[in-house]
Parts: sequence; C-alpha cells; structure tokens
Amino acid sequence: MRMIQTPRRSSPGRAISLQDALPPLSGPAVGPSQDISGTDLVATARCPGCEGRFPSLDRPTHTHLTVSAGCWAHFEHALALHFSDQRYWPAHQLLTNAYSLQHSRGGDRRALRSVHVHLSALYAQICLRQPEARVIAMRRALSEFDFHESPPTWPAPSASVADVDLSEPKQHLATVERFAYAVLSDWSDHHALAQMLCEI
Ligand SMILES: [Zn+2]
Repeated sequence: MRMIQTPRRSSPGRAISLQDALPPLSGPAVGPSQDISGTDLVATARCPGCEGRFPSLDRPTHTHLTVSAGCWAHFEHALALHFSDQRYWPAHQLLTNAYSLQHSRGGDRRALRSVHVHLSALYAQICLRQPEARVIAMRRALSEFDFHESPPTWPAPSASVADVDLSEPKQHLATVERFAYAVLSDWSDHHALAQMLCEI
C-alpha cells in the first residue's frame, strides 16, 4: 500500500476557474426535493454530512459514509435512476463524486481515502475538464494510496443532495451540476491538493 501524508506542491497549473467551468443552466432554480417515495415519513433529521434535512427513516445506510438514512435514500433513488434509465447516466460521475466527498467525514481509513479520491475526481471533471474514462482511471489509481490526514478544516456545506431533482432527466442533470459545483466551490481551499493529486 502506498502512502500519502501531505501535499508536495500546490500549483493550480492548467486548471480553469470554477466560474469559467460552470456551464449555463436552464430551468427553474433548484429547491429541496420531497420525493422519497415508498417510505414512512415520521419526522425530519439533519444529515451529518451535507447538513440537509431529510425524512427520518429506519433503514440501512452506508458503511463508512457519514449520512442520515433519509439523505442516503435520496442518493440511492438517484443511483437507481442512473442505472435504470440511460437518460440519467450523464449525471452519474458528478453526483457520485460530489456526494461521496461531502459525506466522507468519518475519519477512518476508508473515509480518508474517499475524501482524497473524490475531491480529486470532482476537480478533474470540473476544473480540468477530463473525460469520464480518465477520471475513473485516476480514481482507481488513487484508491491504491493510503491517506493519513484529514483536511484541517472541513468546509461548511452550501448545498445538499435534497436540491437534486429526481423527476426528469434534463432537470436532474442541471441540478446535479449545480450541486457538484457548489460542493467543489465549498472545497476551494483544497483545490491545490486536488491539483497535486491529479498529477500523480
Ligand atoms: Zn447528506
């Protein structure tokens, strides 16, 4: 297992700014989605990862991501759309990277790896405009490293997956893009680390 503890250099290099990278979005502004179909809603609870409010549910969550059950249900609903309807697939990598980054607050070995891998992948997608295949290959390569330090400051979330539309492919992609850009913007203090990891 290879180990990384601290960044070795911090030159943004070829990256473009988030503002320049942001594509034009169409459709109405996003708002909290209430579509957690097929579940019993008894109350709401704040997710410890994205700090969004979701229905309180009694159901399994992820093994090491710091998620509430309601937040995880919303994300799983999106994944089900991605894998069952190809019109939703273009949003898959962006949503997976942004969501995983935002919810890797556990501090254990798997969470530390997840932070670095998904931060780098999200940065590569948005700021370096790397194609999906390259982003996936880089994510696999970084997964071979062992990371021992969590970010010294954890960004305050400015968006949650509750803002991601689940009703229609075009609006889904638009809201996923907005969510992903918000997450990467929240992590702007760590873009130099992401750039360094993308060069490994
Ligand atoms: Zn959450």
